[in-house]
Amino acid sequence: MVDSNYMADSGLERAFAKVRALLEGDFEHPGLTLYDLQNLVGYNSRVKTDGPLSYTLPPEPELSGVAAVRLYYYPKDPEVTLIVEIEDKARKRHLRHFKWNGISWTAPHGLKSDLTATREVLPAIEEVGGDFFLGYAPEEAKELAEAIRRGEAAGTKYMLCTRDNTRIFYSPTSSPPTIPCPRCGNGNLIFKTLTLANPEDRIEALLREQRALRTALEDLLLYLKRKLGP
Ligand SMILES: [Zn+2]
Repeated sequence: MVDSNYMADSGLERAFAKVRALLEGDFEHPGLTLYDLQNLVGYNSRVKTDGPLSYTLPPEPELSGVAAVRLYYYPKDPEVTLIVEIEDKARKRHLRHFKWNGISWTAPHGLKSDLTATREVLPAIEEVGGDFFLGYAPEEAKELAEAIRRGEAAGTKYMLCTRDNTRIFYSPTSSPPTIPCPRCGNGNLIFKTLTLANPEDRIEALLREQRALRTALEDLLLYLKRKLGP
């Protein structure tokens, strides 16, 4: 199988060049300022928000090689003011972080800011039957979900959420995810390897989905209680 991560992606390169011109300016335009960014995302200082607020760049020829370019503004974050997200055609997201220093965009300490296409990407995430699949194309995720259900995927590695038992299967070509649980936001995930020898019961899959729904519901109730008072 060819890993598309390791092939040059000219569409991605062009999108990065476009974003670089947008942030740093070029012969025709000055670079984007914090004020410009606030206008783009519709930031209103009267609205108290911790962010992020986002803006999707409108389609244009230079961006035709990628799925989308989004700017995320974090008004309250002391370290990161702006995150640029470029989603490529394979639905992988490339992130770059910036801090506004009063004049220009600089690199926050230890975070990635260079505006060139690299091989480091956040893989796309697919949800199939209550499980999440990271770094798989939609069809691959569906096939793997089927194989798991039939008990034919022993040895497959995944992360398990300790809170709601959500499973996040990750592609063997990508490194283990450093993301929180996509369902509940819990950062405490443990490494597991699928060992099941018997086909997974549909009942079991349903129970897992039900557990996940219950957790979501409990969270919602807690949130409403906080909002509305006792
Ligand atoms: Zn979870």
